[in-house]
Amino acid sequence: MTVTSPNSGFAPWPDRLRRAAIILIATALGLTAAVVFGGLTLPQAGLIFLVIAGAALVPWHLHQSVPTSEDMIGARPAETPVVQALVGGMPDAAVLLDRAGRVLHFNTAAGQLAPALRKNELALFALRSPEIIAALREAIATRQQQRASYVDHVPIDRWMELIVTPVSLPTAFGGSEYCILMTFHDQTPLRRVEEMRADFVANASHELRTPLAALSGFIDTLQGPAREDPKARERFLGIMHAQATRMARLIDDLLSLSRVELSAHVRPEKLVDVVPLVRQVVDGLEPLASERQVAIEIDLPEAPVLIAGDTEELLRVFENLIENGLKYGASGRRVVVSLSEPAPDDAAGEVRLAVRDFGPGIPPEHLPRLTERFYRVDAGDSRAQGGTGLGLSLVRHILIRHRGRLLIESVFGHGATFTACFPATKTAVTDKAAAKE
Ligand code: ADP
Repeated sequence: MTVTSPNSGFAPWPDRLRRAAIILIATALGLTAAVVFGGLTLPQAGLIFLVIAGAALVPWHLHQSVPTSEDMIGARPAETPVVQALVGGMPDAAVLLDRAGRVLHFNTAAGQLAPALRKNELALFALRSPEIIAALREAIATRQQQRASYVDHVPIDRWMELIVTPVSLPTAFGGSEYCILMTFHDQTPLRRVEEMRADFVANASHELRTPLAALSGFIDTLQGPAREDPKARERFLGIMHAQATRMARLIDDLLSLSRVELSAHVRPEKLVDVVPLVRQVVDGLEPLASERQVAIEIDLPEAPVLIAGDTEELLRVFENLIENGLKYGASGRRVVVSLSEPAPDDAAGEVRLAVRDFGPGIPPEHLPRLTERFYRVDAGDSRAQGGTGLGLSLVRHILIRHRGRLLIESVFGHGATFTACFPATKTAVTDKAAAKE
């Protein structure tokens, strides 16, 4: 395709001179023959020559002000470099077509989306999805904007939205040129978020429904067959209590998760000493440890270990990790909780709380997914332990808010180590360095 500026839309000068010269030479030859053989007088021949020369000059002049249809194509506004630059600069994939559906311009994103696109060829050759074809035909027929959604399967599934907009571009001669702008928007990220939201709602309602169904089942039994059976009543009430506790915990976890997500961008600033927090959590979990016959060993520095953090959220992190060690690693009979801090002058170092158990460990294929909401290695085991499947997800979000990270290491069959890492605060490092001097 050639792109010409609107002012250059006339036949080139050498062409015009050549045409005029040919006419004049042919006229001169014809008149000479007429004078020699036909009896035409010289003044008559001179007059005829002047008339024809004048006539040859008139279209010559008109040529400069009235472009031919060929010239007009070069002057089409849709083909100007400005329009080409606009299409090229659009952030989404964009293709500009003429009214017949032929490609005038397309940008790099469109080229990647449809590698078969070629200038001056019909767009439909390259964009074969029925939704695109229908939208394009409709837009050409009605001159109304059309939208279409379709799934692009190559190279991976992508959910696309297409907007076909008829555009009228003013020409240099007061008219307008009608063309069609197609823009493609990748809706895949939005779609994924929407799927995650739907999954989340489905999971949360399923998790709530299960204990609720158990509760109403036991209520029915207590009102009916077990009404006069004090032993059964005692046992059922115990189960109902456990189910109600699980529901309350699930709701607690859900609320905590959304609270942490809402405040994810606000990093806690208050300096907190982690040592007493770890002790507090370990003390609180002693009853569970003795019930599971697990010994908790702690290895904590004597001096305070300060990090910028939110006390309640830090307690949730430590509680989740240690409780998981007690629940899922109980068969190892030991859980080791250790707190380490970076060297006094290491400002980029981390404060790390590691919880190591000696239970069955976690198969490697599960490790990357453990912090997903409701993800469990063994859902039945987790539910039996009163788990919600939200604990590690909450831990991860709290650590993100604290600009920290969670490390999970496990050799299947040999226990697991979960390490919560927090950036050491500059103040804490400086204080420590000063204290050591
Ligand atoms: P839950 O409420 O089920 O405990 P979590 O998010 O805390 O949810 O943990 C997710 C899953 O990770 C658990 O269901 C369990 O399968 C696995 N898991 C967590 N900690 C351990 C551990 N120390 N040893 C083995 N598996 C673990």
